[in-house]
Amino acid sequence: MEKVLDYLKQNQQRFLAEFCDYLRFASVSAQPAHKNDLHACAAWLVAHCQAIGLEAKLCATAGHPIVIAKTPRAKNSQQPHYMVYGHYDVQPPEPLELWKSPPFEPRIVGNTIYARGSMDNKGQHLAHLKAVEAYLKTGTALPCDLTFVIEGEEEIGSESLSGFLKKNRRELNCQAVVISDTGMPSPKHPALGYSLRGIMALEITLHGPARDLHSGGFGGAVDNPAMAMSQLLAQLRDQHGRITIPGFYDGVAPLTAYERKEYARLPGTDAGLKKMIGVKNLFGERGFSSSEQRSARPTFEINGLTSGYQGEGSKTIIPSWARAKITCRLVPNQKPEAVRKAVVAHLKRICPPTMRLEIAAGHGAEAYFVPPTGPQAQAALRALEKAFGRKPILMREGGSIPIVNQFKKILGADSLLLGLGLPDDNAHSPNEKFSLECFEKGQRMAAFLWQELSR
Ligand SMILES: [Zn+2]
Repeated sequence: MEKVLDYLKQNQQRFLAEFCDYLRFASVSAQPAHKNDLHACAAWLVAHCQAIGLEAKLCATAGHPIVIAKTPRAKNSQQPHYMVYGHYDVQPPEPLELWKSPPFEPRIVGNTIYARGSMDNKGQHLAHLKAVEAYLKTGTALPCDLTFVIEGEEEIGSESLSGFLKKNRRELNCQAVVISDTGMPSPKHPALGYSLRGIMALEITLHGPARDLHSGGFGGAVDNPAMAMSQLLAQLRDQHGRITIPGFYDGVAPLTAYERKEYARLPGTDAGLKKMIGVKNLFGERGFSSSEQRSARPTFEINGLTSGYQGEGSKTIIPSWARAKITCRLVPNQKPEAVRKAVVAHLKRICPPTMRLEIAAGHGAEAYFVPPTGPQAQAALRALEKAFGRKPILMREGGSIPIVNQFKKILGADSLLLGLGLPDDNAHSPNEKFSLECFEKGQRMAAFLWQELSR
């Protein structure tokens, strides 16, 4: 490992120059005008992978191409095989006037690089590529075979990816997928993500009178859909935030003592959280810390609520309808379809006889969980500790990354989430940045990871 770590140390200046070259491509997947930039970016990446000793190629898809790059391997290699996933596409940079320097002209200030795509996700998978380069260029044997899959449609829903995985299932069959596309609480708190929440969306409409009515002429004899909707929704949660829908919590796995101990090590306080989000007081289910509430417990949220007159001044009507957009965040062992059924059955039960209830189903995704006490998670924790020189923390993520479920379903592989971003890196926002300390330590982590996973 000495040689590998030395190589990384010696070559940081060149790595940084290459990182800047990579960032200059405006690989904005959402905007058709950038189609050629995506292609050029992918072609640059293939050439770069080849230059560091990988066998790389561009794979055409119905959308933007996927780059696949493999470490050289014996014909019937018996070594373990791991996949590293990343994406070379980036979010649109707009609004441009809020950027302190142009989004595709990388700017380095102190130990930070500013550019669209620096943290999400070019810098993070480049760190993995540099670690492998160090092995290959120093003639150090890798204890495993690696395949990089770097796509160009992550920011627009990864539409071509699952077809690509299915088509190349045999070739991509692997022990685990390593993804650095999330974050850590601070450079002092390297972290392994081992769980993601799932999601279940639906839209509820209550239909009352056939048209908006004069509230003077009819008020008192006709039920009001906006009021009926408020009463309906208010019955779904108690005053402490516990969801009261029968069956909602069916199957929810309790947090283990080990996990709760890890949660307690997370930095940050409730007072800090309150200040950051600007609320008077926090709120949540009793018996859980705010970090647990935000990532290990299911939720029922109203994302949008519409009815009646929204314009200036007043309009004295009984609205004809009311609508609510709902999403539930789900935790491991909850099935989106089962939760949807429980919610729909309960709404039908409690819908007042004055209203016609209409429910439209939205998207759904299962939660994700890799046992944090398992050998792969423990190997990742050791790699983090060696690279950062600090005891890493375990983190459940409150959000969802749907591709992780695809990896599990299609390849049968678990994902290790080794995020290198910081909470203030402005992903998806103006002035996106990436810490060069995280870039360098990320390379070391990636170098140690293959040793630890293959042990
Ligand atoms: Zn993103």
